[in-house]
Amino acid sequence: MDDKLMLMIPGPTPVPEQVLLAMAKHPIGHRSGDFSKIVAEVIENLKWLHQTQNDVLILSASGTGAMEAGIINFLSPGDRVLVGCNGKFGDRWAELSKAFGLQVETITADWGQALDPETFRSVLEADTEKTIKAVIITHSETSTGVLNDLETINRYVKAHGEALIIVDTVTSLGAINVPVDEWGLDVVASGSQKGYMIPPGLGFVVVSPRAWQAYATAKLPRFYLDLGKYRKDAAKNTTPFTPPVNLFFGLQAALRMMKAEGLDNIFARHQRLTTATRAAIKALNLPLFAADSAASPAITAVAPDRVDAEQIRAVMKKRFDIVLAGGQDHLKGKIFRIGHLGFVSDRDILAAIGALEATLQELGYESVSLGAGIAAAAKVLANS
Ligand SMILES: *Cc1c(COP(=O)(O)O)cnc(C)c1O
Repeated sequence: MDDKLMLMIPGPTPVPEQVLLAMAKHPIGHRSGDFSKIVAEVIENLKWLHQTQNDVLILSASGTGAMEAGIINFLSPGDRVLVGCNGKFGDRWAELSKAFGLQVETITADWGQALDPETFRSVLEADTEKTIKAVIITHSETSTGVLNDLETINRYVKAHGEALIIVDTVTSLGAINVPVDEWGLDVVASGSQKGYMIPPGLGFVVVSPRAWQAYATAKLPRFYLDLGKYRKDAAKNTTPFTPPVNLFFGLQAALRMMKAEGLDNIFARHQRLTTATRAAIKALNLPLFAADSAASPAITAVAPDRVDAEQIRAVMKKRFDIVLAGGQDHLKGKIFRIGHLGFVSDRDILAAIGALEATLQELGYESVSLGAGIAAAAKVLANS
């Protein structure tokens, strides 16, 4: 049954009916007063979501477009940057930085492990000449379900005093606390199809006053993604180029829903969904790919040892219309990933775990005792 399709992937994430309905309209002129009112409201609410007074700029781009804008506006060819790599998206930061001629030094961890903040500390402390221009990391590494310790790494960046901190918060924003101003994050990039509960198509970049200072002297070429243009136009509640107007209708509705729920409730819900999912997976004797101490609030990666992960995904889709994500690159076939980001409720987790149990049964996975996963998840959901 097509209409029953349930997306449990880390983007695109499910979209609430209110948001779908808000988008189901004729577009309006993007230079109209009506559209400016929407822009004004969404900018204000985006600042609320990011806990910031900094500029929040809206791009017609996917998350990677926001990442690219976060590099080319603040750096110059040959600049030395430290990039944290422990998964597909950390690697993307490194590739992107190399593509623009930056001098990239990576700090790596195995896929499934968190980046070690102490390695950042020692490299930053050794840089007495202050040649490191930026530290670039992925907060929630979607490819592995690992949450990196942004708060601690950022503290070491602040102690360095010169480098900017540039962060991909694509699957942490709207799932876990990312207090942009309190932590002093300089450049924060995200995308609409993740925690925002709207379809793909918008990228967001938050820029600190320190980053704007760097912008003034940054020499990488930029045009469509020149954030100075977006800043100037945001001040007039407009955008430099034609934006996907209907996505703005959806964004307006989604942000209103998020405000009504409240940040603390949103974070608590994601924590609860994460804990319940992980408890269920453990109760089913399936190995979790990331440790509890580094669990992403958006995605749980599972590394089944006796069943092919792709087979599990195929049965989940065919029999239950539930879409799980697979592994990327060398993890293909080795892990599957359950997304619990955005418009996801307790009920969705129970449904997914129940379907997973039935799938494992169908595939003859012997160490599953039917009901154990549901019981473990239900217990967490009842007590938190
Ligand atoms: C989804 C995602 C992105 C952006 O990918 P796009 O396909 O360009 O939207 C970037 N970083 C992380 C961690 C992601 O999960």
